[in-house]
Amino acid sequence: LFSAVELAPRDPILGLNEAFNADTRPTKVNLGVGVYTNEEGKIPLLRAVREAEQARVEAALPRGYLPIEGIAAYDAAVQKLLLGDNSPLIAAGRVVTAQALGGTGALKIGADFLKRLNPAAKVAISDPSWENHRALFESAGFEVVAYPYYDAQSHGVNFEGMLAALGSYDAGTIVVLHACCHNPTGVDLSDAQWKQIVEVVKARNLVPFLDIAYQGFGDGIDADAAAVRLFAAAELNVFVSSSFSKSFSLYGERVGALSIITESKDEAARVLSQLKRVIRTNYSNPPTHGGAIVATVLGTPALRAMWEQELGEMRDRIRAMRNGLVERLKAAGVPRDFSFVNAQRGMFSYSGLSAAQVDRLREEFGIYAVSTGRICVAALNMRNIDAVANAVAQVLK
Ligand code: PMP
Repeated sequence: LFSAVELAPRDPILGLNEAFNADTRPTKVNLGVGVYTNEEGKIPLLRAVREAEQARVEAALPRGYLPIEGIAAYDAAVQKLLLGDNSPLIAAGRVVTAQALGGTGALKIGADFLKRLNPAAKVAISDPSWENHRALFESAGFEVVAYPYYDAQSHGVNFEGMLAALGSYDAGTIVVLHACCHNPTGVDLSDAQWKQIVEVVKARNLVPFLDIAYQGFGDGIDADAAAVRLFAAAELNVFVSSSFSKSFSLYGERVGALSIITESKDEAARVLSQLKRVIRTNYSNPPTHGGAIVATVLGTPALRAMWEQELGEMRDRIRAMRNGLVERLKAAGVPRDFSFVNAQRGMFSYSGLSAAQVDRLREEFGIYAVSTGRICVAALNMRNIDAVANAVAQVLK
């Protein structure tokens, strides 16, 4: 059975982790992997999470199955985070939400559901995009194309190219959009650009699939959901995959959600019934622990306030590290202007470093980054930022 099985290529980022772990230099720094670490270089356990978790453990609850679509209070809380507390769509019962296994799981059940609805559709992702987007939609059976997104010259968006590509797609094409904190570039659209994207999506009858994995890491919980809310207000059928991996620092608990905006309460009921079939044949129903914690935190005013503060601290720390890197590179006499790093949002930065420079960072300094030049700014801290800035200055000489 397995004699002809070939070795699959290594995941580029997880492969980087393995090399990092094997590196014995005490000064090594991992800017490759996409997790937020605090000033101590550790993945934080948020206080709000710990409190909700302790109460849950003490309650010693039985471990029954959850409903196929997950915890009702969790799904309701997800909708409010995405669409706002006073969303008329939520009030009208037009939003379907299913708890999912992280943002990845949400994308997967969304992709499988879309394949049943419109098997001939193409999927368009940004160039570049989170590397799993293409693989996920291809494994669901779709042909995946890429629309222009990043412009290396300006460290911004090739907006004309993006708009032209979207304007050329057939009706029904599924367009995957990073709602905020674009991974891997850190470069987001402006509100005015989002409005134009909504218009072309609507005019051409495209299917928007918004991926929001970093809500609260950019400008704030509501500000980061602006694109989702623009699409919602445009009376479109919208898919949204969301994740609490980062915003709750709950990576391994697999807490995400798929939300779908429909035209009516009746349509929502039909859509949910079909989505449940997709879930039932994938993993039957989601796990309890992470979803219960998030639902408790979001539904308990004191814990919610604590979480918002902790999320704000993570956001502010990332900003400070962006600025700190820019300042240090300038102080080190690097002639290249790195101020674009301050304009980027979220955990990542397309630093503009070449693959050869990234190799030198690793080999000479034990600083690990992705060969595309993507660095995780959230892995910088006051202990390593000087060393990173000096090393970058050296490889740019
Ligand atoms: N979408 C994007 C754009 C991401 O960056 C990530 C995580 N790296 C995900 C989805 C998946 O999130 P999760 O870990 O919750 O599955």
